Amino acid sequence: MQYRKLGRTGLNVSVIGYGASPLGNAFGEIDPSQGTRAVHLAIDRGINLFDVSPYYGLTLAETRLGEALNGHRENVILMTKCGRYGANEFDFSAARIHRSIDESLQRLRTDHVDILLAHDIEFGDWKQLSEETFPALLELKKQGKTRFIGASGLPLGILRRAAEEGVLDLILSYCRYNLLIQDLPLLLAPAVQQQGIGLINASPLHMGLLTGNDPPDWHPAPTEVKQAAREVTSFCRAKGLSVSKVALRFCLDYPMAASTLTGMGSPAEVTRNLETLAATSDPQILEQIRLITGSRFNLTWPSGKPENSSL
Ligand code: NAD
Repeated sequence: MQYRKLGRTGLNVSVIGYGASPLGNAFGEIDPSQGTRAVHLAIDRGINLFDVSPYYGLTLAETRLGEALNGHRENVILMTKCGRYGANEFDFSAARIHRSIDESLQRLRTDHVDILLAHDIEFGDWKQLSEETFPALLELKKQGKTRFIGASGLPLGILRRAAEEGVLDLILSYCRYNLLIQDLPLLLAPAVQQQGIGLINASPLHMGLLTGNDPPDWHPAPTEVKQAAREVTSFCRAKGLSVSKVALRFCLDYPMAASTLTGMGSPAEVTRNLETLAATSDPQILEQIRLITGSRFNLTWPSGKPENSSL
């Protein structure tokens, strides 16, 4: 495994991070014993960053991850979130954040997490985020319930604003840097770099579009992006390549992201994703993929409050 520094935190995170949303059946029901084995295999093979949220499976993912990490807590960097509790359920108030971490710690069977993020902040009100949510996160850091704090979301404008507040240790961005979209380096990375904070890039497979399997029904990407993903998948198949490996390798080569978080629900997925560590990207293949995506490249979808959803 390779490791990179996460901003100024002093943490060295594995370049492949374990996204635990599949443990909450986010992409369809998984066999829980396979999920546990996936977590243990990941730890054995050097993956040390684990990301979860009370939102995933409406607490199921945290509960299952907590069970799987029993006896392994010291070997991992554990990251969870607060503020999002359902598809349309958000509460970024200080009172809820304080309650939320206590509930998460119980499910995760630990007395502290390493990282706590405000989850999908584009659904919050900026004034509340800046005057209430971020100070609450800082307070939890002082209390030792989390070692580091950050924020996650889809629109890059509000993540940039959050980075520029100067109080967060890291930003988690998703679906903004992979084979289908690459606006993160222009719109977020400079602010993160200027602040010297950490950057984590999630969803290298564009939340399941680049796996060779059908994406879940809830997938929010525009139809033309889903079509582009199908064409990229067919192209890779015709070349004898695994689209998920090409996609993950591409993301691992982006040095600004300390870790690339991919969702994994079985040992087979962990094994396949670990194989990308020894692979290299072929620039000609990447160029052809860029040509296939054509006018569908860099398309995203609205997320959050209108005032927060600007690029
Ligand atoms: P992803 O793009 O890697 O897609 C995951 C999907 O691909 C799952 O269905 C998984 O089972 C499947 N998969 C993974 N490896 C595969 C392989 N080798 N072959 C075939 N299928 C494979 O990642 P994602 O789950 O969208 O994101 C990763 C993690 O990042 C999440 O689990 C979550 O922890 C985090 N995340 C956070 C936010 C946020 O904070 N707002 C948003 C998205 C993701």
